[in-house]
Amino acid sequence: MRVFNFAAGPSTLPLPVLEQAQKELLDYNNTGMSIIEMSHRGKPFMAVNDEANQLLRELMNIPDNYSVLFVQGGASQQFAAVPLNLLKNGKADYILTGNFATKAYEEGSRFGDMAIAASSKEDKFTYIPDMKNVKFRDGIDYVHTTYNNTIFGTRYTELPKTDATLVTDMSSCILSEVVDVSKFGLIYAGAQKNIAPAGLTIVIVRKDLIGNALPQCPTMLNYAIQDKNNSLYNTPPCFPIYMSLLVFRWLKNLGGVKAIQQINEEKAKLLYDFIDNSSFYTNNVNKKDRSIMNVPFVSPSEELDAKFVSESAKAGLASLKGHKVLGGMRASIYNAMPIEGVKALIEFMKKFEMENK
Ligand SMILES: *Cc1c(COP(=O)(O)O)cnc(C)c1O
Repeated sequence: MRVFNFAAGPSTLPLPVLEQAQKELLDYNNTGMSIIEMSHRGKPFMAVNDEANQLLRELMNIPDNYSVLFVQGGASQQFAAVPLNLLKNGKADYILTGNFATKAYEEGSRFGDMAIAASSKEDKFTYIPDMKNVKFRDGIDYVHTTYNNTIFGTRYTELPKTDATLVTDMSSCILSEVVDVSKFGLIYAGAQKNIAPAGLTIVIVRKDLIGNALPQCPTMLNYAIQDKNNSLYNTPPCFPIYMSLLVFRWLKNLGGVKAIQQINEEKAKLLYDFIDNSSFYTNNVNKKDRSIMNVPFVSPSEELDAKFVSESAKAGLASLKGHKVLGGMRASIYNAMPIEGVKALIEFMKKFEMENK
């Protein structure tokens, strides 16, 4: 039996997508083999690759002067690939809003003169710094932000005020809400949170930023090489690309990003309203900055948190344990989490509170 799976990543996928993948696994489109057993240069896979690319462009309304690259190595690889491709003047500014933002800054610092323009670390990353007050250095190649902070449950609602190129890590929120891609020079995202199985990383990059890689940039990380080869320079992550295509079709069918954003906001509101009206559960994030994808919360004690995690799992609500740096609980309510899952979680939370108050 399938459970409601609140894992932060890899995470739940839409049931109709899994069913279609299962159906096609033995024989993809009358080829007599699965999509993961054939050449990535053959017609069937090339068609999958092209349609996935095209559908993502359509769903995110990506302008023609951007390239969409399907690469490997996870979002963490982009912590290095971004500076290796974008540093012309050798410096960039970072805003630290969590663990992944900090890792991006630390990795970037290996390749250039990087500065922290703002950080919410002293308040345990419970908010996004006020963009009005964040100043950047002159002559920087980019500003790096982490749009949604998976561990701490925050997200940007405003962009940095700068003429510099904006780079953002959207691993845990890509396709969850409408974004104006033209405001960014580069967006990257690991697929395993809100799109597909692990193994695929999406890079959306404005074409004028391609072609300036540093001499030490490895071939595989060079956006120009990936772009020129339609992301097929070497063997691509075939299965996650195929799964992405199925998810993109599912999302388009549902009405696209605008439609899923409404559902996501409704799910998040249900959960936050319930937590805010409860004297038992707490979410410490600044209200304006709350993520609609990842909702961390605690009960009155660490003991009860542990009990909550184990009892909720028995009740068919899986993977609610919080990240180890925060403790407590975390409900990741990505696109594929139906509203019924959030309602079931709230019912369980009510019952648990009654029994343990
Ligand atoms: C999960 C995550 C990462 C790390 O992704 P990998 O694909 O495992 O490298 C980076 N940034 C954010 C915001 C994430 O949620």
